[in-house]
Amino acid sequence: MNLEFERKLTIPMETKAMYPVTAELEPLVAARAETLRRIFEGLDDRLLLVIGPCSADRPDSVLDYLTRLRRLQEQVEEKIFMVPRLYTNKPRTTGDGYMGLVHQPVSTGRPDPYKGIIAVRELHLRALRETGFTCADEMLYPENHRYLDDLLAYVSVGARSVEDQQHRLTASGLEIPVGMKNPPSGDLQAAIHSVTAAQHPHTFIYRGWAVHSQGNPHAHVILRGYLDRAGRSVSNYDRETLLRLKELYDGAELQNPAFLVDANHANSGKDPFRQPEIIFDVLHTVKEEPGLGRLLKGFMVESYLADGCQPVGGGVYGQSITDPCLGWEKTERLVLDLAEAL
Ligand code: PEP
Ligand code: MN
Repeated sequence: MNLEFERKLTIPMETKAMYPVTAELEPLVAARAETLRRIFEGLDDRLLLVIGPCSADRPDSVLDYLTRLRRLQEQVEEKIFMVPRLYTNKPRTTGDGYMGLVHQPVSTGRPDPYKGIIAVRELHLRALRETGFTCADEMLYPENHRYLDDLLAYVSVGARSVEDQQHRLTASGLEIPVGMKNPPSGDLQAAIHSVTAAQHPHTFIYRGWAVHSQGNPHAHVILRGYLDRAGRSVSNYDRETLLRLKELYDGAELQNPAFLVDANHANSGKDPFRQPEIIFDVLHTVKEEPGLGRLLKGFMVESYLADGCQPVGGGVYGQSITDPCLGWEKTERLVLDLAEAL
């Protein structure tokens, strides 16, 4: 191998001791986890919004965003339950490009995973302490999950990772809901297979240990659109796809069958301004197809302070350096319109 072993990282236990979830924050984490469980078990019928920037690239603008989101959450709390996207690990289609806070604690700087791991823990903890939110992240590197397992409300397994065995096995040992994206091919059966793997107990190797998982009854599908053979984005929130997903769930004997629709990515063709119309379209379909109402739990939305995106180092405060996002004014409008429509 040509790996140069640069330095050993702090282990999760040490990192948690440096940035602990204090006794006064613990009940808040537990209460939010309970609410989310009740949503996936159909005991709380509020709409879930997993909402926020494509990547949590810098703490100042991310915390500014979360502070605004907190005020908005309070205005709509009877109808909507928000879990902010605080995505610190970014998968890349070709492997190149910005890899997230965990690798690049400064987006324009050189990779520094030692500082990155600490920056990620610190940001999730500050989000909780300063805004009362436990957040969502992508579980891109399953072995890193323990750096955050006491802080996260939700994780997604990305489209490029969802058929990977280690992701599915690790998901089976998590005590929070895991959203499995459909793969880039759009194969719904593959997404259901991943959910099945995550819901079942397994014995496997994790962080140098032989471990047993109990299975995760809250693993579910996220529809994010797909790419056709010519590489064009194709959406998958249409009535036919939703009914097909229901059919697959009906035949799969899974616990708490559920799905979210990711309104950005290949569903919007990365036109973030289409997200509101996509969400209302899905709500309309679900209203006409009562069998779907039980399954649809909510939406994933890519939203930040400024509209659109910019290159890394572009310097616009609160604008995405990865996928284009809905800016703050449009986000506020969307959430208030949604609360009114529900
Ligand atoms: C994301 O949620 O930003 C993301 C990378 O999603 P996907 O895995 O669906 O591309
Ligand atoms: Mn994205």
